[in-house]
Amino acid sequence: MRLQERDPEIYRILAAERRRQREGVELIPSENYVSEAVLDAMGTIFTNKYSEGYPGRRYYGGNENVDDVERLAQERARRLFGVPHANVQPYSGSPANLAVYLATCQPGDPIMGQNLPDGGHLTHGWKVSVTGTYYRSVPYHVRTDGYIDVDEVWRLAREHRPKLIWCGATAYVREFPFEQLAAVADETGAFFATDIAHIAGLVIAGAHKSPVPYAHIVTTTTHKTLRGPRGAMILVTDKGLAKDPELAERVDRAVFPGLQGGPHDQTTAAIAVALGEAMQPSFGEYGRQVVVNAKALAHGLLRYGFKLVTGGTDNHMMLLDLTPGGAGRGVFLQEALDRVGITVNKNTIPKEPSSAFYPSGIRLGTPAATTRGMREPEMSRIAEWIAAVGEVIEEFRLPEGREERTATLRAFRRSIEENRRLEALRGDVREFCLKFPVPGT
Ligand SMILES: *Cc1c(COP(=O)(O)O)cnc(C)c1O
Repeated sequence: MRLQERDPEIYRILAAERRRQREGVELIPSENYVSEAVLDAMGTIFTNKYSEGYPGRRYYGGNENVDDVERLAQERARRLFGVPHANVQPYSGSPANLAVYLATCQPGDPIMGQNLPDGGHLTHGWKVSVTGTYYRSVPYHVRTDGYIDVDEVWRLAREHRPKLIWCGATAYVREFPFEQLAAVADETGAFFATDIAHIAGLVIAGAHKSPVPYAHIVTTTTHKTLRGPRGAMILVTDKGLAKDPELAERVDRAVFPGLQGGPHDQTTAAIAVALGEAMQPSFGEYGRQVVVNAKALAHGLLRYGFKLVTGGTDNHMMLLDLTPGGAGRGVFLQEALDRVGITVNKNTIPKEPSSAFYPSGIRLGTPAATTRGMREPEMSRIAEWIAAVGEVIEEFRLPEGREERTATLRAFRRSIEENRRLEALRGDVREFCLKFPVPGT
């Protein structure tokens, strides 16, 4: 029995989500739409299997087909990135990063990563993450101009002698200085891990410099610009094996049995499919168009008078700095854009004057819109809508006091519910979106 008859409740919610995905513009830079082939692979009977261990070395019988799937995924990952070793089992990006700590550090060791409010990821040593409590985290920052402060990385690394240095972020709009941070790691003896969760697809497309010549270890999610299922990979480079010939085994042992149990074989199959797609010339065109679109969107926003962190972008995302209208205003623009069917997320900006919950920025990205076939003209259209929404909410300011704040937010939400201009824009966005099909819907 299929889902519709077996579970109409879930089916109904799924139908609503399908409608939401089709009728709105997705600008969250970590999201994307997978192909029907990837969806097919995820929904297979590989989910029925237990296969703890690695191909040819399993704890359970009956793994001959799973072995073939996992070997294929590993081989495609090695070929695509030009590395000698790939582990495709991490459940997601966060456990992949945790496995890197397990493979390279002891609890209490000093580690360095980009500070979270400066765009870094939780798992690069932020204080509420296990990576910031089990290890001695020494975060580095971006300068006031929004670029990574490489001088500070040098200073902190010489002082603290970290075991592991991360380069990678969730909200960084410029090319990562892989070469410069590798020089720091090499001089101070640290392992250098790059986390390309966001930009993996751009690296494959040649639209961002590859970290492989510089890093010992590369981690990536498979569900962002790589356009695969939710999952992750850990790659070990030749440079990594030269530093520690056991590094590949250490990484494999950290993933299993160090951190995880049985791999999600249906995900492994879908990762293999996504990597196969990423080997096609059309994927290169996709990755390059993502960047062209981001630059077009950034250009459009600047034309409407918005301020962007660093003044633009080198990759797939940009950060709107809303402080010219007052601190902490990200929430207003996010919710008002949601109202018209444009999905973004509020985000901190460098030297955030407000808080992580009420940040002063908005993060936008083009990977999902590009998958739907949107190009530069559509980007100017979207910029125009964002500007129109910005105008509607221009008068709202975030008050300092908690009670005043609650009252303002309540009034704001009522006002956007009733706003006729937003209602009309919602119709325009819906009509526009339906011209760009979402795979699998
Ligand atoms: C998304 C992301 C992760 C974590 O991925 P999850 O799959 O959400 O756990 C790790 N690092 C960076 C830089 C990311 O952007």
